[in-house]
Amino acid sequence: MNPFINLGIRHDIVNAISELGFENPTPIQEQSIPVLLTGSNDFVGLAQTGTGKTAAFGLPLLELLDFEQNHPQALILCPTRELCLQITNDIKNYSKKMDNVHVVAVYGGASIMDQLRQIKRGVQIVVATPGRMLDIINRKAIDFSKVKYVVLDEADEMLNMGFQEDIDNILSTTPDEKKTWLFSATMPAEVRRIAKKYMDNPFELTMGEKNTGNVNIEHEYYIVRARDKYAAFKRIVDFNPDIFGIVFCRTKIETQDIAEALIKDGYNADSLHGDLSQQQRDKVMKRYRERNLQLLIATDVAARGIDVNDVTHVINYSLPDEVENYTHRSGRTARAGKTGVSIAIVNAKELGKIRQIERVIGKKFVKAEIPTGFDVCEKQLFSIVHKVHNVQVNEEQIEQYLPRILEEFKDFSKEDFIKRFASIEFNRFLDYYKNAPDLNANVEEGRSRDRFDDRGERGERGAPSGPSAYTRLFINLGSVDEFNRGDLLGYICNQSKISGRTVGKIDVKGVYSFFEVPNEDVEKVSAGFAGAEFKGRPVRIEVSGEGTSDRREGGGSRGGDRREGGGGYRGGERREGGGGYRGGDRNSSGGDRRSGGFRDFSGKPREERPERRRRF
Ligand code: AMP
Repeated sequence: MNPFINLGIRHDIVNAISELGFENPTPIQEQSIPVLLTGSNDFVGLAQTGTGKTAAFGLPLLELLDFEQNHPQALILCPTRELCLQITNDIKNYSKKMDNVHVVAVYGGASIMDQLRQIKRGVQIVVATPGRMLDIINRKAIDFSKVKYVVLDEADEMLNMGFQEDIDNILSTTPDEKKTWLFSATMPAEVRRIAKKYMDNPFELTMGEKNTGNVNIEHEYYIVRARDKYAAFKRIVDFNPDIFGIVFCRTKIETQDIAEALIKDGYNADSLHGDLSQQQRDKVMKRYRERNLQLLIATDVAARGIDVNDVTHVINYSLPDEVENYTHRSGRTARAGKTGVSIAIVNAKELGKIRQIERVIGKKFVKAEIPTGFDVCEKQLFSIVHKVHNVQVNEEQIEQYLPRILEEFKDFSKEDFIKRFASIEFNRFLDYYKNAPDLNANVEEGRSRDRFDDRGERGERGAPSGPSAYTRLFINLGSVDEFNRGDLLGYICNQSKISGRTVGKIDVKGVYSFFEVPNEDVEKVSAGFAGAEFKGRPVRIEVSGEGTSDRREGGGSRGGDRREGGGGYRGGERREGGGGYRGGDRNSSGGDRRSGGFRDFSGKPREERPERRRRF
């Protein structure tokens, strides 16, 4: 038997929700539906967004109301227009096989006349944001004297937004004997107080620990220097090619600046904040919902009630002022049983805040490292490979072109073809990221962690430790060529006739590697590899900008911005164009600009980056 039937939900509703893909009740539905169906309790449910709470209260309401009667019997108050529309829509969906169910959405920023007309026609369920609801009550356009159930959804959010007084006024127009069901993601003292005020011995349901975040969310933090924040953020995005994320900023200005900078850097991003008109907000949300937008940059207030499924990452570009807001932000991911990651990009001074948040969410953050440029390249390469592997071929459409395509490739072996195909995208990343600096800030030592802080690792290999003593070299061979560190060391020594003891850190990647040699050996290595081939392929050795003494001298105090100096994309050009990204990180924003965006949903043409590598 369908488990919803077991919970006491009738067939026509079960049929409708089956069509929505609800096969099994979520934990909150399982526990709250039987209680709410009795219709005789006040109720407090402590549950995160995305746990299925709309159906947890929506299904019992559909069971309990008398739809022969056309007067308001249930009032659902929620903090935002988005949530209001979502709840209305959900309830309409649950009831689509029932007769005479009338639900109205009452919210600001839309025509009040339409809403009044719908109310006049007769409704049983009113879903409303407090401000507009009060407006309609004050016009005496609605009669709540027969309301049996009031739902306060996302109560903590409503209080945060200052709706306490409006809620008091609205509830004063409803009968004393109604039942009140309150849902909240967190239970600060103010919510406790309203629970006490409006409810009589409520049934309390806590999903998980009090104030605990969704267990499906992993929390990570990255420590970076303030000036590297934007570059670090982009690196994280690039390391997650399939990211579908919401990025939280603290202010409207910051939101807009980050979005503008990202757009100019070729990312598929847009902003959502309070200065946009309702129409503009709707447009942005529509694009995001339809996944035509990959990154939504938002303020806390604007993002309230965003209920888009499948958000993979929430990124706290700036931590919220109120610790409680972190829970709301992170709750935008890992909805409906999915998993998600909530990331905080912080500077060393903000670590205390991370600990504070940990106490509130009852969960530890994992300290993560900003991926290296080469990690990004590798990730992107395999993302391309997987995409090629999984792409749906439109046989019918491609057929006519096939003879010409095959003709073009007739002299290529399968391996050649695959390599070329993968290289189209990969080369761009390689060129762009090869010299990318380490952006992690080492807080323990209170200084930046660059190549020279890695001495310990290299010390293993007996390398001397003077900061300017070593040069990091790139070689176009890696684990795919079946090299491990030992093999590569042997190969390098053999080829260039230098002592293995002098070789510093060796970093074997997929299709390339790095190794460090004393500065005075660079020419020797270069000469040793001149004209070298490996399995018929020319071997390329190049000086990598990352972590070399060369970089330190050239980059000076700007560190990561070395590339700007190298004639690459200049942040300045971009910023002059549109008053783009402002703030402390601007110096590095241009420096880490990628080559037009590999995940550009909009299909924007890519821009080529100038060559930055120094070749022998
Ligand atoms: P909510 O917390 O009510 O916003 O629900 C989050 C998401 O989970 C929505 O997209 C719902 O459609 C979906 N959902 C709710 N209940 C179930 C269920 N029992 N099975 C599958 N999906 C559900």
